[in-house]
Amino acid sequence: MRLTRHHELFRTSVRSVLERECAAAEDWEREGAMPVRALYRSLATEGLLGLTLPAEHGGLGLDLGYSYVWARELGRLPAGSFAMSLSVQTDIVLPLLVAAGSKRVVEDFARPAARGELVAALAATEPGGGSDLAAVRTTAVPDGDDLVIDGRKAFITHGSVADFAVVLCHLTEPGAAVGLNSLALVVVPTGLPGVRRERYTAKLGNRSCDHGSLQFTRVRVPREHLLGEPGSGYEWLTRVFTRERAFLAAVATARAEQALAGALARARERGVLGKPLAEHQAFTFALAELDAELALVEQYTGAVFQLLAEGRPALREASIAKLRASRLEREAAERQMRVYGGAGYLESGPVERAWRDARAGALAGGADEALLHLIAGHLPTGH
Ligand SMILES: Cc1cc2nc3c(=O)[nH]c(=O)nc-3n(C[C@H](O)[C@H](O)[C@H](O)COP(=O)(O)OP(=O)(O)OC[C@H]3O[C@@H](n4cnc5c(N)ncnc54)[C@H](O)[C@@H]3O)c2cc1C
Repeated sequence: MRLTRHHELFRTSVRSVLERECAAAEDWEREGAMPVRALYRSLATEGLLGLTLPAEHGGLGLDLGYSYVWARELGRLPAGSFAMSLSVQTDIVLPLLVAAGSKRVVEDFARPAARGELVAALAATEPGGGSDLAAVRTTAVPDGDDLVIDGRKAFITHGSVADFAVVLCHLTEPGAAVGLNSLALVVVPTGLPGVRRERYTAKLGNRSCDHGSLQFTRVRVPREHLLGEPGSGYEWLTRVFTRERAFLAAVATARAEQALAGALARARERGVLGKPLAEHQAFTFALAELDAELALVEQYTGAVFQLLAEGRPALREASIAKLRASRLEREAAERQMRVYGGAGYLESGPVERAWRDARAGALAGGADEALLHLIAGHLPTGH
């Protein structure tokens, strides 16, 4: 990604905004909830929820370089929760609504969400499976001017706090065959009769970010809530996943960088066998390996953003970046944990939090094996 002086200026300003707005991040993590509405409204006043949205839809109309910097700065915060929460709003749902939504959807959902007045969710995963699109059972059945939604969704970021969810379902008549062609994305306000929400309370990581399940029982929404044309759901989903994975890769590289810096700082002050850990070759080589990987993954992730900025297809590339960056984040968090010895294990704080939070990268935005499955599908055929 070619970043200019303007992107760098933005980096400085967004860093100070995030440090100010998320100053209580550690407390929120301990309490298991961030004040998502107040936070979103504050960030919206700085234009941060609509960086890349066109100005006519309430955004700042900036290029994807700003989204890249935004992802990296979110990744620097002391918990994964913030990037996890905000990525859904700014780089998954909002661009989708603006690109594929009807006028009504843009007015009723995109604009207020860019102002921080509504919190969004993307509800794709179902209790029966997240990696396999064949597991989608939720349906949207046309009835007059409405669509009637039935189904269940699981593990959804913002699942219990979102004001609306973009729901992956099959647009179909009752009993009709479903497949990739019937996949559809529909905006469903969560306050409607027939929507039931439940919050996951005991979680391994990303504790201040809300996660919940959703159940839809004969929920009626206007047909204008369908995103894109009937039959185009899979294509839109591909676009959503591409941008989501690129964004999560950028976040993960920043989080890996933080963990490596933390490991190095500790290794310089902690002595073993008469000298600092940082002077033991076994340690420095391990860190050098991770640093070398980081340099490559950062470059590659930047290149994926460049592809997106040029409007080129990049699902495979974004999936590769997300796979490698999130693995690297886990390895770096593990290395940091190791340098801290017993203190990393026994004292709650940024070290064990980084380790716990990193695990979500193996699942959210596509499980590692689901990404490998996709990459394998693009392997060259023949010689
Ligand atoms: C923190 C967090 C936030 C999330 N946020 C959202 C959200 O906002 N919206 C949403 O829709 N979903 C969300 N999810 C769900 C996430 O997308 C799914 O967990 C993920 O897609 C995997 O689906 P699953 O959990 O049903 O596991 P399954 O699909 O049942 O897979 C189980 C395991 O099988 C393995 N596997 C998968 N595919 C293959 C394969 N082809 N070959 C071999 N092994 C395989 C993997 O190890 C995988 O972990 C979130 C999950 C987490 C943990």
